[in-house]
Formats: sequence, structure tokens, C-alpha cells
Amino acid sequence: MKKRFKQALKGEIIIPPEVLVAQGKVVVLNDEEEARWRREVLPLPKELVIPAVRKLDPGTIGIRGRHGTNGLEQLSVSNIAELFMQKTGIAPQGQGFEILIGIMDDNGKLEGVDVPQGARLKEVPNSDQAYVIQPVGEKQLVVAALADRGLYYGTLTLRQWLERHLKEKSAEIPLASVVDWPDLEERGYWHMHVEHIPWLAHMKMNRFYLYESFSVAGNEISFDSRSSTQPEWSPPFRKARRYAAEVVRGPGHLDYFERRTGYAEACPHLIGKGESAWNPASFEAGGNQRGPCATQPGVAKILAMNMAYHAAQGAAEEMVWMSEYPALQCKCDNCMNTGQYIAEVQAALTAWKEARQSYPDLKLSVFFGRGGQASAKYPLPERYPDHQIVKVMEMLPPDVTMRISMGCDGKDGALLAKFASQGKRISRMDVSYLGDRFQSEDIRLDLERRVLANKYIGAWTFTPGGFVGPESFRKTYNYRMCAIAEYEWNSKGRTAAEFAEAWAVRQGYADPVLFRNWVTTLNSPVGQRMYKAWGPSLKNTWLGRMPKEMAVGDFASGGQDTPQKNMDAAKGALDSAEILGDQRLILVSRTLLAYCELEASAYDWIVSQDAGPADVPPQNSLSDSQLRKRIVAALQEYIAARQAEIKDQGIGVHEKTAMEGSYPLEKLMELFRSEPGKSGMHIKDN
Ligand SMILES: [Zn+2]
Repeated sequence: MKKRFKQALKGEIIIPPEVLVAQGKVVVLNDEEEARWRREVLPLPKELVIPAVRKLDPGTIGIRGRHGTNGLEQLSVSNIAELFMQKTGIAPQGQGFEILIGIMDDNGKLEGVDVPQGARLKEVPNSDQAYVIQPVGEKQLVVAALADRGLYYGTLTLRQWLERHLKEKSAEIPLASVVDWPDLEERGYWHMHVEHIPWLAHMKMNRFYLYESFSVAGNEISFDSRSSTQPEWSPPFRKARRYAAEVVRGPGHLDYFERRTGYAEACPHLIGKGESAWNPASFEAGGNQRGPCATQPGVAKILAMNMAYHAAQGAAEEMVWMSEYPALQCKCDNCMNTGQYIAEVQAALTAWKEARQSYPDLKLSVFFGRGGQASAKYPLPERYPDHQIVKVMEMLPPDVTMRISMGCDGKDGALLAKFASQGKRISRMDVSYLGDRFQSEDIRLDLERRVLANKYIGAWTFTPGGFVGPESFRKTYNYRMCAIAEYEWNSKGRTAAEFAEAWAVRQGYADPVLFRNWVTTLNSPVGQRMYKAWGPSLKNTWLGRMPKEMAVGDFASGGQDTPQKNMDAAKGALDSAEILGDQRLILVSRTLLAYCELEASAYDWIVSQDAGPADVPPQNSLSDSQLRKRIVAALQEYIAARQAEIKDQGIGVHEKTAMEGSYPLEKLMELFRSEPGKSGMHIKDN
């Protein structure tokens, strides 16, 4: 297809010069140039070829939508027009080349134009989110879709190119052929800061759960609107829709309702009966995590009030969270006969029925996720009762979505996968995790092997709290959040190295290949060892065994890396980070370098211990005390580097715990300071 396109374009190059002025100049791209355009978009579209670009005078470009549109379609057009004005300083009203943006009619036409590949959109998964970008003849680039959300996504892809290629005096328009759709219907986060919705939605993320508390006084229920932290996001529903995203709200787990202000006083009859309704660990600690008496109509009533409140503000869906503790049972006869979690789901369905009398379009989802207080005496039960989960799946109407985190997958881990494969609407809420590492491959594999292989309709990620502010949160998790967006849209598109380059381009780094190599070093065996060498995971590393039971083999995975090679690679990574000029990368590289010196110093010491004095190599001719001093100095350096990195992240309430990850290393430092000689130490020969 690409070859044919290029041949066709060759004919164009001989068009008369006066036409060239209006329609610009076509530049055929070689493979390397095309790859550069490909990496400017994130996520990568499913099908994308860019045989050529058209270089134009911005004054000759027009941008147009269909007449008389509104809502997201109109916004999709005006967003692109605004970007054009911002970048070029003029309005897009030229006559030479047109970007036409709109929803196709039933015949696959847009403003009378036959849209190439447009017919295919009906065949692809999640077609309401699908779009095409196609050149039409010599004077048009068309962005078209079946529905407004798909159209919006098409303009987001185009936008990522235009942001970089529109200038005051020149414009480069890619003559791209794109057919694109998401692998997953839902790509979401729970507890995400609303401030991040525009950023994440620009990478085509589309679902965000925001918890909202309530309180009760007599028959009155009131809601805590503070959970929308910014006034313009309160209420959040319609604003999110300007980014093709849905905010979903709900009052949280049913076994925490008792903690809501006024609830226990106003609704004592709704509290679960008997000791089995308590989470025993909570009970033991004097807390009140307790399941509801869900067969009491009042529970459904409270849920219906929540639904109506949110629906009145524009919510399209309410998410009801079942009790978090997975082994509760209200002891009243009705609840005993029904089963705790079945009764809770029934209450949600009853509430939904009532809410839909006023808000017929409101959707419902039910959430199951194991959690809650645990103690040594009462560890967290592994999962919800399997037969109740099966029953819930059987009783849910087809348009209600089951949202599952941990504790619902049965003994073999496949309980819900079976239902998902049969076409039930099940979205996984336990996909990926947000961490500070520059890793993406685990995200891709989890989506491919667990989520997509089993036909779940969505993937949501939990959002950790406790940051100093949204900016520090974004800085720390930026890489993985972008990887989640990339692979939830297109799980088979990019390799980890290609993703690293695309991410670097989106960050504005001057040399994406340099960054890709940096990521490769960070994910090398020594980089992996570095990440483990802090906090709780440290005890499973060689540092946890030091000084006993250590071996030279600890420092060479498969014999491929040596302390010297690792040291050189870490120095290279630091040089790259400094060239890229990113403070975070510099700090991480310094940690790696310090860690490599720590390994090198320990390595030399072990060699000196293992070997008889006669065959100690010349570079190790330091005395035992000197070798020990070097280890102590390396430990100090490493702790300082890692703590500087933690400080820079701004992780707020987590900072103290993170900083204290150094504790075992400090103990080790003391040991190496005080231990006079090797007597009494056993150094394992490897
Ligand atoms: Zn009951």
C-alpha cells in the first residue's frame, strides 16, 4: 500500500509551479523520516503510514468542519483551528489546502467527500472511538469518524503532529493514512486527581472514578463536594466530556458507610447484624468496618439518593462499591438466605431501577475489590465467596458493568475470565501500577496476556495518594502513565525501545535515541538490582546477606556484566542524562552510578577474602581495612544519591518511609566500620 502511494505521489511532483504555490510542495519521506513522524504520536495508531508531507504557506491552509454541528464534534474542529492560530498567528481560512474534520454520514461521506477507508470503521472494535485520517486528492486531508468521540481522538492524533510542524511562516501537513481504534473500550484510573484529566485524556484515557463522601441527618443526605478539588471541576462530568472522558462517581465501599457522619445515628437498622458482619480485625481494634444489612430497603434508598445526586449533575454512570472485606455476613434471616454480597448487588440494582425513573440513561457498575483492615490474628481472607461471585455474574443485566480488582477470580484465577470470554461486561480495576521506574514492558505484557486475551472490556489503574501536589505526582509517574495510555490503546504497536523514543519526543528531549539508550541501561540487570536495593526488598538482595553468604556471582547475571562494565554503562547514562538536561534523569543516573560503585567495592572485597593473599590481583592490593573503608564510602554515596532522588519526587506523606529505606544499609555501614577482620565471617565460594 505504501509503495503504491509513493508511486502515485511521484506523478504529483511535476504539477505546474503556479499550482505548487497554492497546494505547497510534496516531500516524499524516506523510512527514517517516516519513523520520525511515527514517534511523534502517543499512543501509536493501529494502522499508520506517512508516505509524504506537504509543505505549505500557512496562509493557504483552511480548516473546516460540518455545518451546524455542536458538542464534541464542534469542539474537535475548533480545538484544531485554535492550535493553528496559536502556532501560525493567522486564522485557517486559506483556499489552497483544506483539513476537513467531521462525522461521516450513513454512506461514508463527509460533506460529500468519499472518505477513503471510512467504511472500515464499522468493522473495527470499539468503533465509536475509531477514526481515520486520510488524504483525499491533492487538496485535502480528512479526519473522519462514526461518532464524536472517535472524531475527537482523530483530532488528538493530528494535533500531536501539528503542535510540532505548524510555524509562523511554514506548515508541514502529514499526508498520513491512519485507521485507528482502541483495543479496550475503557482505559481508566480510580482516585485520579481531576487536574490530570486533560493531560491523560490527550493520550486518549477515558474513565476516571472519583469517590464522593456523604453524610446523613435524619432523612436528609448531603454530599461532600470538596472531593472535587478545583472549582471548575465541580461538578466534573460535563467538563470531562469536553475531553471525551467520563467521570464516574460513587460513595465508596458499603462496609464504610457506618463511618459517614450521622449514618450510625440516623440508620441503625441498616447496619449489619451479629459479629459476622464485622471485619474481625477492625472489631478487635475498636474500629467499625462492618457490612450493611443490605436486604433492608434503606440501603438501596441511600444508594439511589447518591445516584440521583450525581445524575442531576450530569453523571452518565454510578459505580457502587461492594463491601471491601471479603468475608462478611449480616446475620439477619434475609441476608443469611440471600448471601451478603448478592444482597449488596441487589441493593445496587434496586437503587438503579429507582434512579432511572428520573434519569433513564444512567448506567450502573458494581465494584468488587478485596481489602480492609487486617491483623496478625485476622489476616485478610484471600477472596470473596466464589459461589456468590458466580451468582452476581449470572444476575447482572447485560448493560451493567462488573468492575473487579482483587479477590474475585476464584481458586484457579479464571473465574471471571470465563464470564468475560462469554461476552459479559467486565472491566479489570487491578491493571498495572504506578511506580517511579522507567519500565513499560510489564504493562504491555499484563494487558496482552491477562486483559485482552480474556476479553475484558477495560483496564483501570489504582492511583496512590499522598503527593505534595499534582505536579509531583505527574513527575514521578509520568513514564508509566504514558506507557499505560500507549498500551491500553494499542497493545501490539510499539516495542519498549520504540515507546521510550516516542515518550522522549513527547517530553521535548532533543535526542530521543540517547534517552532510549538511557532506559536500556536503567533496565539492565544492574539497574534491576539497584531498584531492589532499598527498603523492604533489600533483604532479598546480596546486600541483605552481606557480609555472610555473599558470592561474586551476585554481581554478574549470566556472566554478562561485570562491575567495570556496569560502572562504564552508568557513567554513560549520567552523561546522557546531563545532555538531555532533565533533572530527574540526572538524579536517577547518579543513584545508578553510586550503586555500581557499591557493587564494585563489595566485589573487590569479596575477591580479596576468597583469594589467598598470594593471588590477589594488583588492583585489589588494598589492605582489608582500605577495602572496607571503600565499601563504607560507597554505601554513604549510594544512600545520599537515592535520598536526593526521593526528595526531588515530592511524595509527601510517603517521603519519610521512602527515606528510611536506607536503614538496613546504615546498619551494614556500621558493621563494615567496626568489624576488625574476616575472622568469623564465612564468605561463600562461587
Ligand atoms: Zn441483614
